[in-house]
Amino acid sequence: MATTIYHDEDADLSLLRGSTVAVVGYGNQGRSQALNMRDSGVSVVVGNIRDQAHEAAEADGFEVLPIDEACRLADMVMLLIPDEVMPEVYEQKVAPMLSAGNLVCFASGYNVAFGLIEPDAGLDVVLVAPRMIGVGVRDAYLEGRGFPSFVGVHQDATGNAKARMLALCRGIGSTRGGCIEMSMKDEASLDLFTEQGFGPAWGRVLMSAVELLVEAGYPPEAVLVELYLSGELAYSLEKIREVGMLRQMDFHSQTSQYGSITRGARYLDLDGALKQKMGAVLEEIRSGKFAEEWSGQQAQARELFDRIRAVRDQMPMAEWERSARRGLRIGDAGD
Ligand code: NDP
Repeated sequence: MATTIYHDEDADLSLLRGSTVAVVGYGNQGRSQALNMRDSGVSVVVGNIRDQAHEAAEADGFEVLPIDEACRLADMVMLLIPDEVMPEVYEQKVAPMLSAGNLVCFASGYNVAFGLIEPDAGLDVVLVAPRMIGVGVRDAYLEGRGFPSFVGVHQDATGNAKARMLALCRGIGSTRGGCIEMSMKDEASLDLFTEQGFGPAWGRVLMSAVELLVEAGYPPEAVLVELYLSGELAYSLEKIREVGMLRQMDFHSQTSQYGSITRGARYLDLDGALKQKMGAVLEEIRSGKFAEEWSGQQAQARELFDRIRAVRDQMPMAEWERSARRGLRIGDAGD
């Protein structure tokens, strides 16, 4: 199936003229998206509970209202609060204030895709999910660059949901780069898979290398610097983004390229086992089993989560990292 990617020329910002957009939540994404939209000429009010983020929004010159009040005033609502608290906030403070023809925009498909929020049939419901951390959303806008987002219309009550969604994308500056169309379920599944299928597998490879080298007698601090603390890995990942996985190899020495290509073939037999495990993770996500475990049985999942985090901080790796980072004066060593 062909992928649709939207750019500035597909989006008409003037559709937002005369509309008020409520940005609910003034955190990572909320602050950046609100500032970008205001700079794009959009009328923005911020809805937030009364605390630090509320003060930050006021200091940035926004009109800040309680969440329900901001939603009542708005034609379009961008929900930019943590996904875990969103169903309750939506039910209690957002939904009762919306009327037919209003638009609700989610920055993550999770809650709608897995049935934790069921917006009223009279609403336009869209997805604008930046593939960029909040501060990057603002930096890109200020530097005149775009950033990618996954976007899609989940429900089109007015017949105009797509045009309104694209106008919002342009308002936050994302269509300068490119917005890839997809369903909320696909966005949520890809996002969760990156976290659960790719991240941990990559983490295991890293941990195996650390353990092997420490067991072979190399100092832990040197091992961590060699593998990732020097910043060389982060630099290579940036080059992969810029020029692609294959061409970035040209930035490494010929010894490095020869060794990596010839030895790389030895790992091919792991592919089957890896894909099988990743496939099982993907299936749990797509079937809703993961959402049921995490959001359906919150208390149980949180208890397990807290126990695992406590163990994580006791691992030898935690001390090796502190020691290496202290020695090399990298950031705050966390002690
Ligand atoms: P944050 O954790 O930064 O959101 C914080 C905001 O939510 C603050 O304004 C906070 O208010 C408010 N908030 C927290 N708890 C509550 C509550 N119980 N009731 C009302 N408001 C509350 O969120 P993000 O910006 O990280 O995420 C927002 C959305 O964007 C999510 O859907 C996420 O999946 C999505 N997203 C996030 C990305 C990221 O880089 N972080 C990337 C792409 C999408 P206060 O601080 O005042 O308590």
